Amino acid sequence: MAYKTVNPYTNEVVKEYPNATPTEIEEALDSAQALYKQWELEGPETRSVQLHEVAALLRENIDKLAKTITQDMGKLLRESQGEVELCAMIADYFADHSADLLQPKMIETIATGQAQIKKHPLGVLLMVEPWNFPMYQIMRVFAPNFMVGNPMILKHAAITPGSAAAFEKIIKDSSLPDASLTNLFLNYDQVSDVVADRRVQGVALTGSERGGRSVAREAGANLKKNTMELGGTDAFIVLDDTDIDTVADVAWRTRLYNAGQVCTSSKRFIVADNLYDQFLDKLRDNFAKVIPGDPLDPKTSLAPMNSKKAKDKLQQQVNDAITSGAKLFYGNEAIDLPGQFFQPTILTDIKPGNPAYSQEMFGPVAQVYKVSSDQEAIDLANDSDLGLGGIVFSGDPKRGEEVASKIETGMVFVNNFMVSLPDLPFGGVKNSGYGREMYELGLNAFVNEQLIVTANHPDLSNLAGGLVATDPE
Ligand code: NAP
Repeated sequence: MAYKTVNPYTNEVVKEYPNATPTEIEEALDSAQALYKQWELEGPETRSVQLHEVAALLRENIDKLAKTITQDMGKLLRESQGEVELCAMIADYFADHSADLLQPKMIETIATGQAQIKKHPLGVLLMVEPWNFPMYQIMRVFAPNFMVGNPMILKHAAITPGSAAAFEKIIKDSSLPDASLTNLFLNYDQVSDVVADRRVQGVALTGSERGGRSVAREAGANLKKNTMELGGTDAFIVLDDTDIDTVADVAWRTRLYNAGQVCTSSKRFIVADNLYDQFLDKLRDNFAKVIPGDPLDPKTSLAPMNSKKAKDKLQQQVNDAITSGAKLFYGNEAIDLPGQFFQPTILTDIKPGNPAYSQEMFGPVAQVYKVSSDQEAIDLANDSDLGLGGIVFSGDPKRGEEVASKIETGMVFVNNFMVSLPDLPFGGVKNSGYGREMYELGLNAFVNEQLIVTANHPDLSNLAGGLVATDPE
């Protein structure tokens, strides 16, 4: 049985879940397809009311849902509560704005008559989601596509089945049609079968580069539209005119939030040489203040990592980095608690060729680099196969923006944390994937933008390009 909740704080097996049966898969696809056909005939008005209802149910059940998240993957309870609230905000946003954003768009054309683009649902979608934000990741795909009229099948991470089941229950407890979202505990072969099924028209995956490549290969082989939201090695650039106390207060949080397991966590701190020593000292002091413990306890400020496997992988990456010449500035000591804790750690002197230089470290480990110019900071930030997000700090916001616009990633924040909100598009470039979630771009990810040209009368004079049959001579 692959799907299993193991509490990362107690190491206790909480619950195991059997894989989906072929009958369950068939029934889910059939019901989803029938719902797609029904939704094709309806506008988004009823769904808008229903999505607000989902937001309200999430808020009513926030404590219970947050505990389920924390039990599944270990994050601090207050962070889980924040995640559920963010899900409700996303639902409200798409409920409020989708009808407008899905209006037909008239386009200027030299063709005779009126040309417009109408937005139709595409059909049944498969979403494949990771464990690090077990409910928010579902909602990022669910809310816009529910409004578009695309029913969804969910394949969640094997370690967060409790969150998958709880999210599905919210949908089933509301007035939404059951087939709006069906959670199936699929193995990889079953994922391939679902991708290939002719009722499925698209695939949205959030996860690692490795997982993304596998599922994108299946989607490509079956000509299914897909979006890939993959990993990041986000740079946090500190320019030489930055106020050190302001940046220090932000920097440690950007690395330790969610125990460092965020695609857009700042993983590489690239610091101007005049601030480098002070920055390191302050980062160490802030890292040293965190309190590991029970993630349900409000006093705890360092959560365990999601699993033993993840902790072991990070430990191996840190060991390899040090063996390859990195210096350990702080941390990397065992924490005397049974859960999957990793002490916040700072590595310096990482050079090209060190495996850490190009790897995503998915946990509380900060790499800190020293640079002597803005250009050097930009070149270092861009010397990565990944291109998800980033942060630039400067005393001069305009200078910060100029540097930001030269970073080869999908998102950069100047003088602030990276935040994810429904009205901001989310996604990356290079091996961080393609496509965007959230905002209008996310709403349009799986839409049939159908061209309709209505002529005033047949016009035989426009024979441009030989596209219209000419009279025989
Ligand atoms: P992962 O191993 O790729 O897993 C993500 C999802 O893909 C899980 O549901 C997983 O199922 C499934 N999966 C993986 N390989 C598959 C295959 N060959 N066939 C079918 N399904 C497959 O990712 P992870 O390591 O758990 O998640 C962390 C990664 O996600 C990090 O790299 C992080 O940066 C990235 N991430 C990106 C974003 C973004 O928006 N760009 C957001 C969050 C996280 P199983 O669990 O059953 O293996």
